[in-house]
Amino acid sequence: MAAGTVDQGAGDGPIGALVGELRRAGVGQVEAGTRRRAEYGADASNYRVVPRVVVFPREEAEVLAALEVCRRGGVPLTARGAGTSIAGNAVGEGVVLDFSRHMNRVLGVDPQARTAQVQPGAVLDAITAAGAPYGLRFGPDPSTHARATIGGSLGNNACGARALAYGRTADNAVELEVVTGSGVRFTARRRGGTARAAGPERELLAGLDTLVGGRLALIRTEFGRFTRQVSGYSLEHLLPENGADLAKFLVGTEGTLALLLRATVRLVEAPRHTAMAVLGYPDMAEAADAVPALLPHRPVALEGMSSQLVDVLRTRRGQGAVPAGLPRGGGWIFAETAGDSAAERSPRPTGWPPTRAAWTRRSSPARRPARCGGSVRTARASAAAPRRATRPGPAGRTPRCRPASWARTCANSPP
Ligand SMILES: Cc1cc2nc3c(=O)[nH]c(=O)nc-3n(C[C@H](O)[C@H](O)[C@H](O)COP(=O)(O)OP(=O)(O)OC[C@H]3O[C@@H](n4cnc5c(N)ncnc54)[C@H](O)[C@@H]3O)c2cc1C
Repeated sequence: MAAGTVDQGAGDGPIGALVGELRRAGVGQVEAGTRRRAEYGADASNYRVVPRVVVFPREEAEVLAALEVCRRGGVPLTARGAGTSIAGNAVGEGVVLDFSRHMNRVLGVDPQARTAQVQPGAVLDAITAAGAPYGLRFGPDPSTHARATIGGSLGNNACGARALAYGRTADNAVELEVVTGSGVRFTARRRGGTARAAGPERELLAGLDTLVGGRLALIRTEFGRFTRQVSGYSLEHLLPENGADLAKFLVGTEGTLALLLRATVRLVEAPRHTAMAVLGYPDMAEAADAVPALLPHRPVALEGMSSQLVDVLRTRRGQGAVPAGLPRGGGWIFAETAGDSAAERSPRPTGWPPTRAAWTRRSSPARRPARCGGSVRTARASAAAPRRATRPGPAGRTPRCRPASWARTCANSPP
């Protein structure tokens, strides 16, 4: 048995055969025990899909080898980071590749370029920690930032409370080293205008150009209409006026088009001072109505929370479970401002807080801003959810054994 191999539950049946094939292909850590498969049968969603095998790749070569075995055998393959997806994005029926155990390093930080080079399993907080000595941080911070990986956040185009200031993960993707389901490996990046592609990805990109070129009006009017339009494939990034940015386009595709092997991501300046105001409104509808009036104050973060959540906590855990000092109201907005000085971070006095809001304020000189205690997120649809991972290919959702021709297939289909 190869070093690092864990021999669990391989058996003689089809699962055992798959385990054997993966090992012969050089994949070290392959697990098929009942417990392990059960563990990976769920993510943070309500879905349950038990995989046949779980693989913990130690290096890129093992990812390519596992992919090759899956392609040959028509086995669905699902990449996984921390598994905090809430729409079943990280569960799949065939092989689950967990990048978080070994391929989790921050490979380097370039303070001049303000970028970090990372492996897919690097946790968001680890990237921020690597940038901290240079006064930098990774911008997007979903509530799960202490666990969520960059591979999963790129997969989901995660946003988080500070998306107002730092954008979505797509806005922070510079270059992605990827491999498609048919094994074409290349660096996805902004091509700029209509520049012709070279390299192994040439055919793939030509297909995408045809797809986009034939549907310019549709893509220009229906895609990228608002900043949190993150469900489905973000074809707007492939428009020539947007720089034909393949890296940004791949963000949010949930591992259905390619596996991420490495990424270069943008880092942003971490503010020296932050302040948070908690604004109370009669209900959440009024809180939502107040948002346009708050935006000119340039908040870094805005999160809404209904008092119903707090009431549950009070009922179950007692009054002491909820921090004192929340303003009156049935709905709150937590608004964070930031700056390099205490004066800059302060909410502007004119018109702040907006009328009808009761409010309290907290200031913090910390680099990593203090977080508010809860959040209400807009429910998001998954690019993959309607097509459960039961077909071969990456995430089991691309055409059988022909993922590289995906673009051509789409380009030829009617709009
Ligand atoms: C309590 C809670 C709060 C949350 N709050 C937020 C929030 O505020 N904002 C927000 O946007 N999201 C939020 N989420 C959703 C989720 O936490 C984020 O989307 C997170 O970034 C996912 O990271 P992960 O490592 O867990 O990814 P996973 O769930 O493991 O994977 C996500 C997707 O990426 C794909 N993937 C993973 N690695 C790779 C790879 N190497 N190559 C190709 N594809 C890959 C997976 O197949 C899957 O489709 C929340 C979830 C929970 C449970």
